[in-house]
Amino acid sequence: MDKFTSIQDYHRFLASHADGCHMAVRHYLSRIEENANLNAFLEVFAAEALQRAAALDEERRSGVAMGKLHGVVVALKDVISYKDHTLTAGSRILSGFKAIYHATVVEKLLAEGAIIIGRNNCDEFAMGSTNENSAYGKVLNARDLTRVPGGSSGGSAVAVQADLCMVSLGSDTGGSVRQPADFCGIIGLKPGYGRISRYGLIAYASSFDQIGIFGRTVPDVARVLEVISGPDEFDSTVARSAAVVSDKSHAAGGQPGKDSLNRKYRIAYFKEGLDHPGLDPEMREAILERLGQWESAGHTIQAIDFKLFDYIVPTYYVLTTAEASSNLARFDGVRYGYRTASRDLELTEFYKRTRSEGFGREVKRRILLGTFVLSAGYYDAYFTKAQQVRRLLVEHTDLIFNDFDILVLPTSPTTAFPIGEKMSDPIAMYLADIYTVYANLTGIPGISLPLFTHTNGMPFGVQAMTSRFNELSLLQFSHQMMQQ
Ligand code: GLN
Repeated sequence: MDKFTSIQDYHRFLASHADGCHMAVRHYLSRIEENANLNAFLEVFAAEALQRAAALDEERRSGVAMGKLHGVVVALKDVISYKDHTLTAGSRILSGFKAIYHATVVEKLLAEGAIIIGRNNCDEFAMGSTNENSAYGKVLNARDLTRVPGGSSGGSAVAVQADLCMVSLGSDTGGSVRQPADFCGIIGLKPGYGRISRYGLIAYASSFDQIGIFGRTVPDVARVLEVISGPDEFDSTVARSAAVVSDKSHAAGGQPGKDSLNRKYRIAYFKEGLDHPGLDPEMREAILERLGQWESAGHTIQAIDFKLFDYIVPTYYVLTTAEASSNLARFDGVRYGYRTASRDLELTEFYKRTRSEGFGREVKRRILLGTFVLSAGYYDAYFTKAQQVRRLLVEHTDLIFNDFDILVLPTSPTTAFPIGEKMSDPIAMYLADIYTVYANLTGIPGISLPLFTHTNGMPFGVQAMTSRFNELSLLQFSHQMMQQ
């Protein structure tokens, strides 16, 4: 059976295949088995996925209207609660924990007929850029098994890259959807802050975290966004309006909009971003050449100065580690998850032992760093300062989008690097997030589009961003650029 190239094609296929959902699930289950070495899945829900597929096939045969994601085979990063299923955030400290409720996104996926096929490996508590921080082993990039898939949603990216599911959900606090999408040659969307409910998402840094979507086509990603976005009484940070991502041509099957394919955009890029010494020169050339082509096609392209560029990564790491040190305080071994085997300990010693044994190195590093920047003597010098910089970034960003529709940057400074290359140098690892953390600091939506192949054989793309709550325009732009 051919792989299903888009949700729309799949739904066409279902019209002539009475047991099409069951066939699709069998296809993906065998792909997952054949590719077990990639370690993209921590758990596969084979029996229940087959059962749900059979039930959906039956519904369709009896004339029940199809949901927007009818039979669509989805995988979830191991930070999203799926009731009665194990949920570990890639950490030992949550080993054996089962989710006791559905995340809002899971409720919404299921209500539109999606089939959840499994739980994806990820960096522990979504902290990392390579998936090497998982307590359950690294994930391999299917394009080159000696390279990382990116992180922290590495398993979810590889699941789509290697055709182990149709679409998947990850989370993006500083790039964890866009960067692995870039390393794997697929599409990765981080919606703007407040677009999708975080209820049921394990928190890393709550004022940055967003659930994001991996897919192979822009219309697939748009359709999933349409389903999972929107207000939620369990998350007061979500915007009241749902994301309008399918305009009037949706009915004609053309979302996110055939009539938008000719729109001309005002596009900006940061000079400091493309001139950055860390950016692979071949990637720089490819992106500049593509911008030139867009200009010839009638879009306006302008390089703009962004003097705050060098402050972005430090600001991100001060604020996110501060939030993480607070969010992760709840993992104490008392109520759930891992508990030290040592007995007869005094309470403080019990916490220390449990947390020392349960958390991995990177998570500990960040809790320490976050606790430090929040400590009385250093609070103003680090935390307050970083918050001030964040405010400046937001103000500056609002001004940019007064004059431009789209901001373009690379997604990552290099293509996927060899496994182990940056593990002993956390600063080098953090600096590789230079292009992605900006969207999280300012709350704007960003997408990584797989447009190129490097001479080293690895894929890479560009990142496009737009103003807050403007996902429709971002998806229309992306759709247009992916057609060329
Ligand atoms: N690589 C970044 C970090 O380690 C991003 C993580 C994320 O988006 N969850 O913090």
